[in-house]
Amino acid sequence: MPLQFADRLNNVETSAIRELFKLLGKPGIISFAGGFPDPAMFDVEGIKQACAQALAEEPGGALQYGATEGYQPLREQLSAFMATKGAKDVAPDNLIVTTGSQQALDLLGKCLISPGDKVIVEGPTFLATIQCFRLYGAELISAPVDGNGVKTDELEKLIAEHKPKFVYLIPTFGNPSGAMLSLERRKKVLEMAVKYNTLMVEDDPYGDLYFGEAPPPSLLALSGSVPGSRDLLVHCGSLSKVLSPGLRVGWMIAQPALLANAVMCKQFSDAHTSTFAQATAAQYLKAGRMPATLANVRKVYAERARAMGDALTRELGDAVEFTQPAGGLFFWARLTGKGGKVSDAGEFAKRAIEQGVAFVPGAPFFAANPDVATFRLSFATADVEKIKEGVARLGKAI
Ligand code: PMP
Repeated sequence: MPLQFADRLNNVETSAIRELFKLLGKPGIISFAGGFPDPAMFDVEGIKQACAQALAEEPGGALQYGATEGYQPLREQLSAFMATKGAKDVAPDNLIVTTGSQQALDLLGKCLISPGDKVIVEGPTFLATIQCFRLYGAELISAPVDGNGVKTDELEKLIAEHKPKFVYLIPTFGNPSGAMLSLERRKKVLEMAVKYNTLMVEDDPYGDLYFGEAPPPSLLALSGSVPGSRDLLVHCGSLSKVLSPGLRVGWMIAQPALLANAVMCKQFSDAHTSTFAQATAAQYLKAGRMPATLANVRKVYAERARAMGDALTRELGDAVEFTQPAGGLFFWARLTGKGGKVSDAGEFAKRAIEQGVAFVPGAPFFAANPDVATFRLSFATADVEKIKEGVARLGKAI
C-alpha cells in the first residue's frame, strides 16, 4: 500500500531547477546554473588551522553536544562580525546560530506561519524560501522588484491590503534578482514595519560580496535610526557564500520572544548546529582571517561579473536586458524577443543545453505571476575564459 504522507506535502513539489541540475553532469557543459560559491576560493589553509585550533583549545566544546542557541565563543565572534558591518549593538545573546541561514527560514516558518497565513515575498525570490514557507501552508503574495530592489510603493499597498504575517526580503544582491535595495527604500521598509506593525525579515547571505563601493547599511544596521523598528526586524546571516557552505553556519537576529520560540523548535529538530563546525568558524573569525578572505572573493567575483556583463552585451545584444549587478553571485536577465529571437526562457534553456551551456529559467522564482522571459545566470564558478565561452554559446543558442 502506498504511504500516506502529510497533507502539507501537497503544498510543495521537487523544484524544477533540480531536474535541470541532472543535466549538468554532461561532459563539456559550462554551468551558470548553480548558486554555489567557487570551491577554488575556499580558504582551505585557514580553515585547517582554525579546525586544529578548535580541537587543541577546547576539544570538549567542539566535540560534545552543545547549547541550542549556539556555541558561545561563536556567538561572540558573530556579534563582533556584525559590528564591523554597521550593526554595532547586536549582543551575543541577541543572535542564535542556525544550521545555515536556510534553517533560520525554516524556523521562521515553524514559529510564525499557520496554514492560510499570508506572507509577502519579492517577485522573484529565493526558490527554497517559496517552498519552505509553502510547506507550512503560507499563502504567498509577490511584490514586484526593479533594479533598485523591491518597489516600496507597491509593497506598501500589498501590506495594507493583505496584512501579512511577515514580509521576506533579500535587500542586498538578491537571489535571483541580483538587485540592491536603495538606501531610500530601506528606510521606507523600516518605516512601513512600524506604521503597519509588520515583521520584516532581512535575508542577507550576499551583503559582503560587493564589487565596488559597499552597499547601503543593512536594514538591521539602519533599524537603530527608525524608532520601534528593531523589534519588528529579523536578520538572517550566513558564512556560506563568503567562507564555506559546507560548514552550515548561519545565524538569526530577532526580538527575544521570537528567538526563544525558534530555539525551542530547533531543539526538537537538530538539537544544535554542529559544535565542530561552530568551533571551527569561531576560531576562523578570531584569527582575523575574514577581511582578507572577503577582499579576495570580492575581487574575483567582480572580475567575473564584469566579464559576464561585457560578454552578454557583445554576444546577445538587444535580445536580452539586464542590470549589471554591484555584488552577489547572479545576473538576472530578461529576453526581449527583439528581432524575432526566442522570448521564452524555458525554450532558451533547452537550446542552451544543446550548445553546452546551462542556466536557470526565471519562472520558478516567482511565487505568483511568473515572468517566463526571465532567467538567472551565476558567474561564481566559471573563470573569465569559461564565462566568455559560455556566453558565446548562449549567443549561438539565441
Ligand atoms: N537565502 C538565500 C537568499 C540564499 O540564496 C541561500 C543559499 N542559496 C540561503 C538563504 C541559504 O544559505 P545557507 O543555508 O547555506 O546559509
